Amino acid sequence: MNQNTQNLSPRLNQNLQSSGSQVELSELTGIRGVFLDCINDPFSNGSNDSLDNPSAENLESLENSSIRYIPDGLLVLNQGHIHDFGAYSALADRYPNLTLTHYPDRLITPGLIDIHLHYPQTQMMAAYGEQLLDWLNQYTFPMEQSFQDPEHAAQVANFFVEELLRNGTTTAAVFAAVFPGSVDALFAAAQARNLRLITGKVMMDRHAPPGLLDTAQSAYEDSQRLIERWHGVDRLGYAVTPRFAPTSTPQQLQLAAQLLAEFPTVYLHTHLSENLDELAWVQELFPGSASYLDVYDRFALVTSRSIFAHCIHLSDVEFDRLADVNAAIAFCPTSNFFLGSGLFNIQKAKSEGRSINVGLASDVGAGTSFSMLKTAAEAYKVAQLQHQTLSPFQLFFLMTLGGARSLHLADHIGNFELGKEADFVVWNLQATPLMAFRNPGPLPTTFRELSDRLFSLLVLGDDRSVSATYIMGQQQFDSV
Ligand SMILES: [Zn+2]
Repeated sequence: MNQNTQNLSPRLNQNLQSSGSQVELSELTGIRGVFLDCINDPFSNGSNDSLDNPSAENLESLENSSIRYIPDGLLVLNQGHIHDFGAYSALADRYPNLTLTHYPDRLITPGLIDIHLHYPQTQMMAAYGEQLLDWLNQYTFPMEQSFQDPEHAAQVANFFVEELLRNGTTTAAVFAAVFPGSVDALFAAAQARNLRLITGKVMMDRHAPPGLLDTAQSAYEDSQRLIERWHGVDRLGYAVTPRFAPTSTPQQLQLAAQLLAEFPTVYLHTHLSENLDELAWVQELFPGSASYLDVYDRFALVTSRSIFAHCIHLSDVEFDRLADVNAAIAFCPTSNFFLGSGLFNIQKAKSEGRSINVGLASDVGAGTSFSMLKTAAEAYKVAQLQHQTLSPFQLFFLMTLGGARSLHLADHIGNFELGKEADFVVWNLQATPLMAFRNPGPLPTTFRELSDRLFSLLVLGDDRSVSATYIMGQQQFDSV
């Protein structure tokens, strides 16, 4: 350790002592710029993130807020983790010889989190004219068949992961196809870029073309092998992935639950209550169940590590159940519009005495964009159609810290807290002629401006707004 050690903050010294490790200041790197992150849930009561609140007019009053904005900040990185973070003026003296990258006119946020999408559907986005069940038969099943070929799977997996990075998405929970090789391909593509990624083999032993069907037993054994090979390796996690209740026999759902019992840290990732015809079909197939969620519940698949995509047509009882078990909902607005499925009621999930973990999700390929900005803009419209309002900061939360909490990864990612993994995105708020015209001049200096600029980024921005994407402190995408 060099002579600058005495300049470290007391907090940092404590960290060093408790971890028993020594940090060489010469190994640190820094990012200077304009930083925005969420430090709490703006949906929860007591949050101060409102333009109606007069004290919120200036940025100094953000202490009681769930957001943190640092107009000239410094992020200090050590081996891919956040070593220190704060105002540049307060920290710069402590790190005199820091190798610094400066983004003076860019906004830097935590990497975005997409908690539900399908990589085998990348090439069939924008498939015309159907609602859920016909869309699956017409487009999805034939497309997924091609993932039996490992070379094809690898090619799509690599394109898919690059597309995530190009859109500023640094963590994703993804459906693979039914073939175990399709899971290997995606994990390998993510691992090569050090991306945080959760995926799993689709389990599907009925109501699909024969070439796509597994059996209850083969799905169990294949999943088991994949979990042992990939779960917890580097930044990868496994999700037991029955497509949805109609395509699994009771025996397969039972074995899915057995996998959860055998491997308590894996996830359960599936679809729930997306389309009214689907609901009627589930009722037919599982006549003894009280509701769609109850089908999963009867097979012990509703846990705190369950991710349920859509949740559009849930009863209050089902919402309560999700809240009780602390399960997560993937809110997929572009997909829900595209397939005409309905409007997710976020107010029921996040208020009325409930605080369910909700994350934003593109649901590619029924979703119409990889961009989480575009996804957030559509989420806003879903709320508007129900006479609800989602604030810019609530939307921002859903795709950062809210997503991290939904995936139980908030100890690792989601904001710029010390010790977390340094996944972040550098945004250009003037990336297009329209955005530059809409947002002339420097970055915000008041709360009102900040809220306005953030909202304009969500509504008008897309992949062109991403200047750079960093994974564990390493730049993995650069727009230039
Ligand atoms: Zn989906």
